[in-house]
Amino acid sequence: MPLTTLDALLPLLRCPVCASPLAEKGLRCTNPQCKQASTPFHVAGGQPVLVDASDSILDPAAVVPAAPRQVRGLRALASAFGPKNRVAPRIAQLIADEMRHVTGRRPIVLVIGGGTVGSGLESLYDAPGHDVAAFDIFPSPNTQFVADGHRIPLADASVDAVVVQAVLEHVLDPWRVAAEIHRVLRPGGVVYADTPFLQHVHEGPHDFTRFTESGHRWLFRHFTLIESGVVAGPGEQLVWSLSQATRTIVPVRGAAAAVRLAVRPFAALIDRFGSRAHAVDGASSVYFYGRRADAPIAPREMLVHYSGAQHPISRTV
Ligand SMILES: [Zn+2]
Repeated sequence: MPLTTLDALLPLLRCPVCASPLAEKGLRCTNPQCKQASTPFHVAGGQPVLVDASDSILDPAAVVPAAPRQVRGLRALASAFGPKNRVAPRIAQLIADEMRHVTGRRPIVLVIGGGTVGSGLESLYDAPGHDVAAFDIFPSPNTQFVADGHRIPLADASVDAVVVQAVLEHVLDPWRVAAEIHRVLRPGGVVYADTPFLQHVHEGPHDFTRFTESGHRWLFRHFTLIESGVVAGPGEQLVWSLSQATRTIVPVRGAAAAVRLAVRPFAALIDRFGSRAHAVDGASSVYFYGRRADAPIAPREMLVHYSGAQHPISRTV
């Protein structure tokens, strides 16, 4: 796996409070005026917690490695027969190809929320032509440091690609995180984001926002579109909805998973053969793959971007 190391990243690390370089293996800020110069950052699981405690939902002192999830019975079965992300592996390959054209340095792909390897992103960790840097709100063997995406503790223009999968619904201010992604990307760098549109609340108190396909494109308005669209369609949305509806009326452990198992074949047919335009309007999750740009797109471009089934022209026919 081309996972990089904390030592290799040290020259690129920046203080989340004052943006100065860090010293002592990322534990201390080099700016004597900064509060993190005299008070070192917390360490969790052997990794620095590079978080400004006064401006984050995270309490650095409370960060611990995530406990392994024990999923058994019907829930494990429903998970095993879960939908395959067919977009992420293809984009991962495009990113790996893109990284091969970077010259003069070894390219870095930054994974935000990389505590666990994302669905369909495995090949990104196998490609020999780049290094993978990753952070999450907990330390893991797949990360080098802990951080909050609202203040990515990396220097401006320090990475060549950013991957952020199933994360932007869990941050308080996704527009600020998108601006941070833009800041840490080198000119011409690429971003891949996949984010829920129609899914019920998950991760409890850490779930805040949803995006239509168009809203997601606008979130990345400072990027040139390479491609965007639907990751999981209305069939998968149906699985989520029926699962949650079951949970509200059947207080039996495993009931929602049983519904997921029963509905999934039907859902897979919908998403395989259904209208692509209607899928945009009823997606379970959407994606954006684009290149860092110097200026945002114009608001009116959003009307042309829309690829759903409710275009005003179709309503007049
Ligand atoms: Zn500082």
